[in-house]
Amino acid sequence: MCIFCDIVEGKIPSSKVYENDYVLCFNDINPVAPVHVLVVPKKHFANINELASDPEGALYSAEITKAIAEVAKIKGVSDAYRTINNCGEGAGQTVMHVHFHVIGGTNLTEKLI
Ligand code: AMP
Ligand code: ZN
Repeated sequence: MCIFCDIVEGKIPSSKVYENDYVLCFNDINPVAPVHVLVVPKKHFANINELASDPEGALYSAEITKAIAEVAKIKGVSDAYRTINNCGEGAGQTVMHVHFHVIGGTNLTEKLI
């Protein structure tokens, strides 16, 4: 069972921001900023390592990149936003279906790197 597969399949509702054949983008249920959207591939990959090694990885990675930019545009934060991917439990990944957090609409000057 995978909660993001259930959301992609419409079994669990989500607050959709953008969708195409490859990705579903929806508002995070527990936002850390005024803009906090999750970009999720419609095919299940556990994490970025699996995405990278899959035969369809390049296709989905390109679609994810385009969707991140599209989400930022839709939310009006194209000039300043941050994209985060947590890979593995030790990095804070809690949902084992690869996803990218798009965060913005607030002061993003605090930097980890
Ligand atoms: P991560 O810790 O990087 O795996 O991120 C998982 C994210 O999924 C967290 O920010 C959660 O708030 C979010 N999340 C979990 N369940 C849902 C849901 N049903 N709808 C929207 N976001 C969710
Ligand atoms: Zn999944």
